[in-house]
Amino acid sequence: MYRIVKIFNNIEIKGLRAGRLATYIWLSGCNLKCNQCTIKKSSFPYQGLELELEGIINSIDYANVTIIGGEPLIHPGIENLIKAILDKGYFLNVETNGSIALLPYMTIKADVIRNTCIFTVNYRCPSTGMQHKMWNLNLELLRPVDVIRFTVYDMDDVNFVRELLHKNSTKAVKHIVPAKLGVSVQELNDYMLDYQLEDWCLHIPIL
Ligand code: SF4
Repeated sequence: MYRIVKIFNNIEIKGLRAGRLATYIWLSGCNLKCNQCTIKKSSFPYQGLELELEGIINSIDYANVTIIGGEPLIHPGIENLIKAILDKGYFLNVETNGSIALLPYMTIKADVIRNTCIFTVNYRCPSTGMQHKMWNLNLELLRPVDVIRFTVYDMDDVNFVRELLHKNSTKAVKHIVPAKLGVSVQELNDYMLDYQLEDWCLHIPIL
C-alpha cells in the first residue's frame, strides 16, 4: 500500500523535461526538515490516500511520469513502483532531496533505467539547514540526462554551490534556481560571468 498525497497532471517544473506534460505521483513523507519547507503534508503526519500499485498505475495519463515527495525514495515499496512504471514503458523522472544514496535505484533495472528513467536531485543548500544530510557520492553517479538542482536563497548558498562543484565532479546538468525574494536573476547572471561558470544553467521556475 502506498501513501499518496495526490496524483495529478501538470507541466513538469523541474528536471530535464521541464515544460512537458506529465503525470505526477506525489508520495507522502520526508526524512528532512528544511527551514523553508512549505510542504508540511508530505513531510509530516500523513493526510492523503492509500493506493495499491495497480491503482497508481491505472491513474497514469501521460507517457511522462514524475515521482515526487517529500522524499519518495524513503517510501516502502518504492523499488516496486519504479519497476512497475518502467515495465509499462513510461518515461520516469524521480525527484529526490539529495539525502538518499542513488546507486541502488540506478541499478534496479540498469538496462531500462539507462534509457527511460532520469533523476532530479534537489540538493539542499546551507540555508535550508539540511546540507549536512546530503549524500555527496551521488554527484559522480549522475549522468548527463540527470539534473542536480540548487535553489539558492542568498549569496552564501551561491558560493557554497561553486565550491561544492569545484570539489566534486558531476556529469549532471546543473540548474541554479533563485528563490523568491532571495538572490536576484541579475546577481546570478553577474556571478556566473565573473566566475565564468559555463556549465551552470540559470533556471527560472516556469510556475
Ligand atoms: S525535502 Fe522538501 S518536503 Fe522535505 S523538508 Fe525539505 S522542502 Fe520539505
